Amino acid sequence: MDKKKIMLFYPPGPMFQRGEDRCQQNVDEGSAQAMRACNDLGYAAAVLLKRDYEVRLRDFQTELRTMDEMYKEMEEFGPDMIMMSTTNTTVFDDIKIMNELKSRLSCINVLKGAIFYDPEQAMLDLLDLTQIDYLIGGEVDFAIGEVADYAFKGEGKIEEVDNILYKGEDGKFISTRFHVWGQDLDAQPFPARQLMNNALYTRPDTDAPMATIQTARGCPSSCVFCLTPGISGKCVRFRSPENVMAELTECYEKYGIKDFFFKADTFTINAEWVKKLCEMIIDSPLYGNIHFTANSRVNPLKKETLELMKKAGCFLVAFGFESGSDEILKAIHKGATVEQNLRAAQWCHEVGLPFWGFFVIGFPWENREHIMETKRLIHKADPDFIEITIALPYYGTPLYETCKEENLLADNVLGSDFFHSSMTGTKYLTMDEVMKLRRNILLGFYLRPKYIFRKMGECITHPSVFLNYCKYGIKLVVNLFK
Ligand code: SF4
Repeated sequence: MDKKKIMLFYPPGPMFQRGEDRCQQNVDEGSAQAMRACNDLGYAAAVLLKRDYEVRLRDFQTELRTMDEMYKEMEEFGPDMIMMSTTNTTVFDDIKIMNELKSRLSCINVLKGAIFYDPEQAMLDLLDLTQIDYLIGGEVDFAIGEVADYAFKGEGKIEEVDNILYKGEDGKFISTRFHVWGQDLDAQPFPARQLMNNALYTRPDTDAPMATIQTARGCPSSCVFCLTPGISGKCVRFRSPENVMAELTECYEKYGIKDFFFKADTFTINAEWVKKLCEMIIDSPLYGNIHFTANSRVNPLKKETLELMKKAGCFLVAFGFESGSDEILKAIHKGATVEQNLRAAQWCHEVGLPFWGFFVIGFPWENREHIMETKRLIHKADPDFIEITIALPYYGTPLYETCKEENLLADNVLGSDFFHSSMTGTKYLTMDEVMKLRRNILLGFYLRPKYIFRKMGECITHPSVFLNYCKYGIKLVVNLFK
């Protein structure tokens, strides 16, 4: 019997980090972001290949393909099932594409995205889901194999596949069990990089191919704006360092990839785990040949961890500082203080480890002075790069509930992103005022002569890096004045 064919894809259109359930960033409007690898599709593909399906994986978005090219390829392939990864921002357009594909292909339609994690019926009612057969809200690699086996082989019970929605006889979606997570991450196959166009995903400074390696899932913190504690759980599930090393080695030896993004909600949360991985890298033939970047909280964090990471090949660490106001850090339940933010920055300077600072402004409680405190923190901490996003009340987060109570929500929270928030403003500032403050802080940071000369000095022997800095700098200024 012929194998069933399954197409996993990102559609053509603006660039979004569709594989990042937590932030789903708008790459086109970010200050210095490059597209990250489509690991969500890669994991789904690996699981489906193991179950003997014929799988094709396409990132039409990052390949800058047109809609017509996508439709043509889909028709030629003739899939029995398609699965698209969607985001909070793109969901309306994505559903139109899925509907068009259903009329052309008559296949089973699956839509995957964090917005379908235990969703409110009121939110589902905003969407035309008539042509969608399954919604996957949880971790796709723990669901897509069972969904396909049920749909094609009649195996298993669909109501027992966790973290999805399927259609009942009346055509309405029924939720299965949510808030349960697959535990054994080492048992999952590595993303099917043989199907991914790995050259598409690069380090922003050097343009070298960069693979994303997920090292852990979940976060014990409770930041009010973040989807992670809800969708990935508050208990951190780690892969073993040995398992991560095996994936690193495969990427290096089989695909020639030397740069990595260690994706974890908070990579440094377990200092012992990080120590073990770094020591394994240092003791391996990969040492000196690979480089990596990772996210970190400022607390818990040890200076020795940063030192060891740098020694093992870390070229950049990213902190979610969020705010320069202790009052706001408390209100958003960050579990960190301004002093800890500054201490982490100071350690990076001492260790010589470049760092990114992520900041969020526009929380309901913020007035102008709170945002000025964030500006002062930025200048004091002096990160290598910063991004300032606007508070975004995703469905399912405590921030969404607060905004609803405070009457700060625009008509529709879908279709928005971190640069076009669905909030009408804070309790004290209009959205226009928040956006102007964002622009002023970003320009005030990046256009400092001291900063520009420092960055030029750092890449004087690397003209390609210098050109990339210029490219991102121009993009930032253009975006800010659009
Ligand atoms: S520390 Fe906060 S923002 Fe970061 S992943 Fe955890 S909950 Fe989300």
